[in-house]
Amino acid sequence: MMSLYRLPPLPTIREIIKLYNLRAEKQLSQNFLLDLKLTDKIVRKAGNLQNAHVCEVGPGPGGITRAILNSGAEELLVVEKDTRFLPGLKLLNEASMGKVRIVHGDILTYRMDKAFPRHLQKAWSDDPPNVHIIGNLPFNVSTPLIIKWLEEMANRTGPFVYGRTRMTLTFQHEVAERLTAPTSSKQRSRLSIMAQYLCQVKHCFSIPGRAFVPKPEVDVGVVHFSPLIEPKIDQPFKLVEKVVRNVFQFRRKYCYKGISMLFPEEQRTKLTEQILTSADVEPTLRPSALTMKHFQGLCNAYREMCEQDPHLFSYNFREELHQKKVKRNQDTQKTPQITL
Ligand code: SAM
Repeated sequence: MMSLYRLPPLPTIREIIKLYNLRAEKQLSQNFLLDLKLTDKIVRKAGNLQNAHVCEVGPGPGGITRAILNSGAEELLVVEKDTRFLPGLKLLNEASMGKVRIVHGDILTYRMDKAFPRHLQKAWSDDPPNVHIIGNLPFNVSTPLIIKWLEEMANRTGPFVYGRTRMTLTFQHEVAERLTAPTSSKQRSRLSIMAQYLCQVKHCFSIPGRAFVPKPEVDVGVVHFSPLIEPKIDQPFKLVEKVVRNVFQFRRKYCYKGISMLFPEEQRTKLTEQILTSADVEPTLRPSALTMKHFQGLCNAYREMCEQDPHLFSYNFREELHQKKVKRNQDTQKTPQITL
């Protein structure tokens, strides 16, 4: 059944902000979207929300919340950290005849695996469930949150216990570009690989900073994530993360430099040659020029090497450097002082 529900006439978001004295808190990086055309456009990018179960993160004064309710969603869970927004959200709950479930809490710790009824669960290989995540969060929250959700996607935990839950989120424009950057682009980075090996990632559109109140320093990108049935790298998230982090840590150098740091100094030359040959990677490619297939080869080869040497995965070259420095300092202190 198509839901033809629309919210009854309500005070505008601007009036809500005035009514409840909701001045944006600079400390919490709050920037509100008051333009209904834009809030509708974000929600349209999430896909068809008829009878959907939606979690909106950081609803604030409720602009996107209204657009979600008008799109035919059956249930809307909102997770908001700032108590000042709760009365306005309660008003929306009444106007929508109880469709809004309000959680006062922090999305970084909220248990999404328990948020929706179990009957919504779909097998991973099935079509995505009718469960969506939508949000315009502060930039300092959206980046750690997407890393956490990517790990949960890989492990099929958190919001992904329901299946391939889709997400539509805003990021600082530059982060949106990194998330979606193709091979050889200037923005190609750790975030590009971590997102693209697990999902289809689309930079839907950009919103100029001036559309927000107050205006942030930068423009904003709306990004849609749709988890893949088969991840492009079939290895544990932590292993992929380690390989990718190493590759990009010397992003201006040839890729072998970062890759070599996966190995202890005494075996470095031999094992670097071994992994590059096994993954069919040219040592003089720049990290940004590596394709997903290259990363897949590197992760598979590294996994095999870790199986042969169980200590390898815990090796961290920065720790080795630190230990050497400590030892050097101790040795210098032990050297007898010669007074003339
Ligand atoms: N969605 C609203 C909009 O587009 O106008 C508000 C956007 S404002 C950039 C971010 C919102 O996220 C604020 O309401 C803020 O209080 C909330 N928020 C910030 N950190 C949060 C967290 N860790 N968990 C839940 N909400 C959070």
